[in-house]
Amino acid sequence: MNHRSSQPTPESTSQPPLVWAAFEELRDRLSESPGLLFGTDFDGTLSPIAEDPTVPEPTEPNVQSLGTFRDHPQVRPAVISGRGLADLRERLGLAGIDCVGNHGLEADIDGSGETLPDAASAEPVVDDVCRRLGGRVDDIEGTVVENKGVTATVHYRQVDRAAVETVESHVQTVVSEYGRGELEIHDGKESLEIRPAADWDKGSALSQLREHTDDTWLTLYIGDDTTDEAAFRVVGDEGISVHVGDRETTAAGYRVRDSTEAEVFIRWLATDGLAVLSTADRSKGGPAKR
Ligand SMILES: [Mg+2]
Repeated sequence: MNHRSSQPTPESTSQPPLVWAAFEELRDRLSESPGLLFGTDFDGTLSPIAEDPTVPEPTEPNVQSLGTFRDHPQVRPAVISGRGLADLRERLGLAGIDCVGNHGLEADIDGSGETLPDAASAEPVVDDVCRRLGGRVDDIEGTVVENKGVTATVHYRQVDRAAVETVESHVQTVVSEYGRGELEIHDGKESLEIRPAADWDKGSALSQLREHTDDTWLTLYIGDDTTDEAAFRVVGDEGISVHVGDRETTAAGYRVRDSTEAEVFIRWLATDGLAVLSTADRSKGGPAKR
């Protein structure tokens, strides 16, 4: 896939600075840009991480901020998640926002949806793997096997630490025996992601969104997962990337400590941040958003 940023940013070994220490710099960069592509992860970023993956909803302030972005002619908001697209849409509860589900395998951009062909063909294989896996991990308390259609997530957040390795080994065995070589396992946050072996990730998803966006616009991406690193690398030095959490190794340029701080930062963007976006082009009518 074509990542617009041809020079991936090397992963830094020290934590990036907190956004609070960089407001001046962020304000400068926003003021030089005629628009903003605001990409965000869902779980752990727009919503607090919950023990039960069926619970999360975006917080009310985040819903408001996303609404502000959506209604602003110089902003394109987009949510990129590991969740299935339909699930993501329903949880978000906001129309008119680009949504990308299953780490980019399913996309709904500018109101038109598509599933990658590789992903669609993997659906029956994912289904088979989930059923077989369910039988094996049933007796390991706290394990949740979530069949998301073209992908699946095995959650172990609530599993006894001593049993996590057993869960992982069941996943590996079942995927290698019944995945027909079409599936891969990726590490998620307290979870394992089972996905089609398609060359596609959150970074490719963000690149796709950029194809739909005026290329003079600044890209900002915020997320808490290891799968968000691919998107941070696509943002590169040209844009703004924000890691939510305290991971030691991240390609992000900035960070906030948790989803509470993410909410405050996103609110800042939706108010002070948008207020300083360059108005140089606005007098001419500005770049077309869609
Ligand atoms: Mg997340």
